[in-house]
Amino acid sequence: MNGQRPSEYPEIVPDASAIVDDVTKVRCEACPIRCFIKVGQTGSCDRYGNVDGVLTRIDPVTILQRTRDRGGEIVPFAVLDDAWNGELVRGEDFFVTGTGSGTTYPDYKPAPLIVSSDVRGVDTVTVVTEGIFSYCGVKVKIDTDRHVGPERAIVRSDGEAVGHVTTGEYGSQMLSIGGVNHLTGGAKREGLATMRAILALCQGESTELTVDGGSRLQLRAGIAPIIDGTPEELMRVGCGSATVGMFAIDWSTLVDEVVVVDDHITGVLTEHQAGAVLDMPASGIVIMGRKSTPGRYFNIAAPGSGWGGTDLVDPLAIIERFRADRGAHAGLRLLMVSTTGESSAYFVLDDDLVPRPAPMPQAVQDSVDHIRLNCEPAMTSVLFIAGAGGSLRAGVTKNPIGLTRSVRSRLTSVTCGGAPVYLWPGGGITFMVDVTAMPRGSFGHVPTPAIVAPLEFTMSTADYLAVGGHAGSIRSIESVLAGERIRHLDGSHLLGDR
Ligand code: SF4
Repeated sequence: MNGQRPSEYPEIVPDASAIVDDVTKVRCEACPIRCFIKVGQTGSCDRYGNVDGVLTRIDPVTILQRTRDRGGEIVPFAVLDDAWNGELVRGEDFFVTGTGSGTTYPDYKPAPLIVSSDVRGVDTVTVVTEGIFSYCGVKVKIDTDRHVGPERAIVRSDGEAVGHVTTGEYGSQMLSIGGVNHLTGGAKREGLATMRAILALCQGESTELTVDGGSRLQLRAGIAPIIDGTPEELMRVGCGSATVGMFAIDWSTLVDEVVVVDDHITGVLTEHQAGAVLDMPASGIVIMGRKSTPGRYFNIAAPGSGWGGTDLVDPLAIIERFRADRGAHAGLRLLMVSTTGESSAYFVLDDDLVPRPAPMPQAVQDSVDHIRLNCEPAMTSVLFIAGAGGSLRAGVTKNPIGLTRSVRSRLTSVTCGGAPVYLWPGGGITFMVDVTAMPRGSFGHVPTPAIVAPLEFTMSTADYLAVGGHAGSIRSIESVLAGERIRHLDGSHLLGDR
């Protein structure tokens, strides 16, 4: 089927009823675009098509199945053929996701699928829908020590502003991409670029982003980030101070001083509490930067892609001098190392107390390797964040506030494509979900621009009726399996299963 893409926005016909002669076209009302679709074609988002004059959701409904061999966890359904074969099914074995279900737009309709099943003896309802999210985005966690750009720097896709660098976390740089202000608040190009960037990241596609005053990033959920063309390998074992503490016992017998270079907290062993407790003699080292507490230094250098997330190419640049009156002596052995062990160098002080490069003894090399072995592989993590607005909630119940309260009181569980979500406290239903825990192909778009994502609300039937649920629209899971187009897949199907 060929998508109908006359432009970035489809042809919008003001009044479908005016075209009474053209019976081969159907109007899609599933989003504000209102595509008018010829037979054999799809609308602008490729999610709906005209199949023999009938408006049809193109993607089949994705059913998840619990497996015994994976501890009962839910995985994408993979064994049914085109439809249920009539065998008795147990509700607890199946979970209908919102992927492929369709939306409630324009918000007066019940959710597309309201499915009843028996789960461990409890009469349960799962309300299944696809939300159209204008208020959404992704939080991207990039495991790296490298400086990708200053916090608050603009992040761009195709030259358009789509987000910003946000607060760095332990061992990771963080991006905030999308959000309603980029989707709707700028020019049309900005909104579309933002939508495409969110969609690509959520779909697990390799996505190129650039940071103003920073790096060029190649990011893909569940895969190591590529920063300025260099694949990242390791996530730090700890900050410089923590690394000093963790390996202090080994180093106390191998060397006279260790500096763990870190853009945030550089550690100096003999001054550090760990060195003091181990009775290490002072080395007389004088380090640049701002001393925080003994053996812990801030601002030793500028951030960059060098040692420990600094711009250092030569680590000796942060050593001001060695003082003989504070314990420095010829022959003093100095190890300098980064928080991942990827950068390391060994020095011995000469008669003038100047550190000179020297071959690293094997035992010291082993200690550096020990750091590397304790680092995790660097990863790109993508969390989709969105808010289920009043209109989406109205598809679940006639009283949207009732659903919010039911979710708050934990009577209703929320999932996104079957994956567990983190619910923010406070008002509304604002959730975050790891996209790699969702089935492939869970996300879509409409060119308003907005992102389409599955959402499911599961509760007991009694609770569903109590919140004013659409009782007349409840159907059995057997009827879904028998009557709907089922997504049948092979192999591993969660985005994170590669
Ligand atoms: S963009 Fe998609 S959902 Fe929106 S009207 Fe067109 S076909 Fe329907």
